[in-house]
Amino acid sequence: MFFDPSALMEVRNLAIDYVGDNEVLRAVNGISFNIKRGEIFGLAGESGCGKSTVAFGLARLTRLPGLVSGGSVSFNGEEVLNFDGDRLRQYRWGEVSFVFQSAMNALNPVIRVSEQLTDVIQTHKSCSLQVARERAAEMFELVGIHPDRLEDFPHQFSGGMRQRICIAIALCLEPKLIIMDEPTTALDVVVQRDIIEQIRALQEQLGFSVLFITHDLGLMIEFCDRIGIMYSGELVEVGPSATIFENPLHPYTEALGQSFPPLTGPRVRLEGIEGSPPRLSEIPLGCRFSPRCSKAIAVCKNQSPHLIDYPKQESRAACHLLQL
Ligand code: ADP
Repeated sequence: MFFDPSALMEVRNLAIDYVGDNEVLRAVNGISFNIKRGEIFGLAGESGCGKSTVAFGLARLTRLPGLVSGGSVSFNGEEVLNFDGDRLRQYRWGEVSFVFQSAMNALNPVIRVSEQLTDVIQTHKSCSLQVARERAAEMFELVGIHPDRLEDFPHQFSGGMRQRICIAIALCLEPKLIIMDEPTTALDVVVQRDIIEQIRALQEQLGFSVLFITHDLGLMIEFCDRIGIMYSGELVEVGPSATIFENPLHPYTEALGQSFPPLTGPRVRLEGIEGSPPRLSEIPLGCRFSPRCSKAIAVCKNQSPHLIDYPKQESRAACHLLQL
């Protein structure tokens, strides 16, 4: 694997389980990737492949029955999985913050938004209310809402504006990484595009990194610098978003790429992917994608492929066919 000592976050062999009464199901099976400084890194894959579980794990938000059971998450050279309570409080919001799909519904309906912003600021920084309010006003301007609206209650804003307020809250402590899990999915497409463009502009201005999760592959390609493709709890390919679907190394990336319309060029017939991902309790032997892969050969059915570097494409992929 390319080891990049300058990466902001380095994830190594991360494993996350869901613990049931009678069984332990591995939802994330030893994934490794990094997020560079100032980079927008996307995680793509069919629903249930483990994207949110990874996002929660990196933020140290995994709660039972979920359990981070192995691996390492290094952030700025520090091991996140070893953080104690105080360090963790500093890490969350101060260094890593989150915007989730339903974030806008997490705003407290009976508290003015100014207070919800100043609360976050004052919990993490020792500053006067006046300074916190000035910062809140600055953040409002940054996400394109007039600071006059600070004294309003959440219900006085549209869904798009409430999601922008959540982005303002996520940005107000100047984190180095923002984890965005379907941040605009609940919004209509015009508002969605607006917000994504604004996040990109803010990212260029402020230089933070983003871990971006969406089921909308077109949006992902436009917005991300690099994309990691997950299948059944494993990373099967990582590469630049500009080329990953044009020159896919892994058959799953290729199939995923054929299941959404291209952004430019003539209209093409979309192919779905036959079958469905395996249940966590029925993981096949060998390559997990092999039962659905039209190119699978004997070795795919009994040996798990490892991620291998393909420096020419600045990619990594895990597929036996690439080694023939
Ligand atoms: P994605 O974000 O890619 O849709 P998730 O991370 O939500 O996928 O889920 C990954 C796998 O973990 C799925 O098989 C899902 O059913 C399982 N899972 C998620 N949350 C729980 C939970 N609380 N308990 C048991 N299994 C879970």
